[in-house]
Amino acid sequence: MFVLYCPVCDRRTLLGVDEVDWVENLTRGVISVSGHCPLGHAAVILTGDAFTPHADPRYFGPAPRVWTKPVHRLRGWLRTRFEMSRDLPGPFYRF
Ligand SMILES: [Zn+2]
Repeated sequence: MFVLYCPVCDRRTLLGVDEVDWVENLTRGVISVSGHCPLGHAAVILTGDAFTPHADPRYFGPAPRVWTKPVHRLRGWLRTRFEMSRDLPGPFYRF
């Protein structure tokens, strides 16, 4: 079944497989399915692999270790130079 949008009626209807008039491969990953809405208007559905959601190609995953390693080394070096003590100084101790 396909969801068919008819621009003349301005509404969507379900198009059964037996109501499909024509199926055509337009290009790689794009399929054109032709049919008619219940009122008889011709409508076309574009579907295929090009219209299915895929993982975002702009996300390359976590930063590579080649980039993060110098930052971690710098952080370790700073820790050794500026070690913070969270203990209270002597005058603040009560006991
Ligand atoms: Zn229609």
